[in-house]
Amino acid sequence: MRAVDIIIKKRDRGSLSRAEIDFFINGYASGDIPDYQASALAMAILLNGMTDQETTDLTLAMAASGETLDLSGVVPIAVDKHSTGGVGDKTTLVIGPMVAACGLPVGKMSGRGLGFSGGTLDKMESIPGYRTDLTTDEFLQQLKAIGIVLTGQSADLAPADGKLYALRDVTGTVQSIPLIASSVMSKKIASGAQAIVLDVKVGLGAFMTELEQAQKLARLMVTIAHLAQRKAVAIISDMNQPLGCAVGNALELKEAINTLKGNGPEDFWHHCLEISAHLLVIGSKAKDLASARVLAQESIQSGRAWEHFRLLVQAQGGDVSYLDEPDRLPQASLIETVNSPQAGFLSQIHARLIGEAAVLLGAGRARKGDAIDYAVGIEVLHKVGDYVDRGMPLFKIHANQKEAGQAGREMALQAHAWSKAPVKSLPLFYDLIQV
Ligand code: URA
Repeated sequence: MRAVDIIIKKRDRGSLSRAEIDFFINGYASGDIPDYQASALAMAILLNGMTDQETTDLTLAMAASGETLDLSGVVPIAVDKHSTGGVGDKTTLVIGPMVAACGLPVGKMSGRGLGFSGGTLDKMESIPGYRTDLTTDEFLQQLKAIGIVLTGQSADLAPADGKLYALRDVTGTVQSIPLIASSVMSKKIASGAQAIVLDVKVGLGAFMTELEQAQKLARLMVTIAHLAQRKAVAIISDMNQPLGCAVGNALELKEAINTLKGNGPEDFWHHCLEISAHLLVIGSKAKDLASARVLAQESIQSGRAWEHFRLLVQAQGGDVSYLDEPDRLPQASLIETVNSPQAGFLSQIHARLIGEAAVLLGAGRARKGDAIDYAVGIEVLHKVGDYVDRGMPLFKIHANQKEAGQAGREMALQAHAWSKAPVKSLPLFYDLIQV
């Protein structure tokens, strides 16, 4: 077999066989197939697409390119959730402890933020001492002992995807639905997930800005899961405006703490409740969504979800005294409340611009590996559809540098739009894909 023949076959709109895909991915992972041939194949896939079977074969080949975790001896069913990323999306911090508190173990490997989109690991690392670099053994032991783990992806999971994703980033081949779906699902499968809830975001602050694209991606990921003998559902959720109020690492952690104590913003709380309910159903802890919601709610009311969060932080070396006194978490030196320059119904709180404002403040990374400031960020005080008077508080800027504060303030103001006529609030969810 030759790599060039596989590229030509895809260029000419052919369907690749499992053997061809395995040959190419193994060769690429080992270094026998160079970046320029992998770039050519990625572009041919972007232009000509893949069948569901080819995408599943690509997913499985990438999943098998490194270590694969088998959690069957550790938990009765390994559940996982994945969000396609957004602004203010701190759901894992709340859902993990809620679901674990209902008796369904959650062992999760998360990522860091890049660009305007935040990352779970950065939020957890605002807790002094919290480790996100557990070894595989530590991961398995902790999952068995306390039923909850939240760490970074170990180096050797789906290495072919790591290599290909970095290549796609610089060759204009990120935006391909089969390549995104196989990239996400290869990591889920390699990390041992048997049942997966996918939170596919759509809107101004999401990868997918159109509902139809998001549905297509969601359907494909659920199909891959089924063809790979895993259970999966996908929920399409709104990412036109930030989720909850807080955007920025320590600010989001504090919002998650409040939510775990039953005092979270309404939209964020409902989002967490719904995703938790789906996890409980797919993980066979509840027979239907209605009873799952009751279980999840009880985990908050009883304090068990909060207790699981404390257990998690303690197990991973974090200083839990910061959870009990969140005011000691990193705080910005300059906090400014920005008032509304006009009266009207809010017609837009552009999620991507709010995320970019947070990056200007120092909360996110322009480039992989950049340092971040845990303390800074934005608190949006309204939702689309709210009426605000001129001079009413609109958002708060948390900055550590005056110039960055001003730049963030300007961008966050640009994110807001007003209408004289009433505006409908945005739905939290658009669709549920079960295939
Ligand atoms: N996230 C991933 O892990 N892979 C992609 O291709 C896109 C988003």
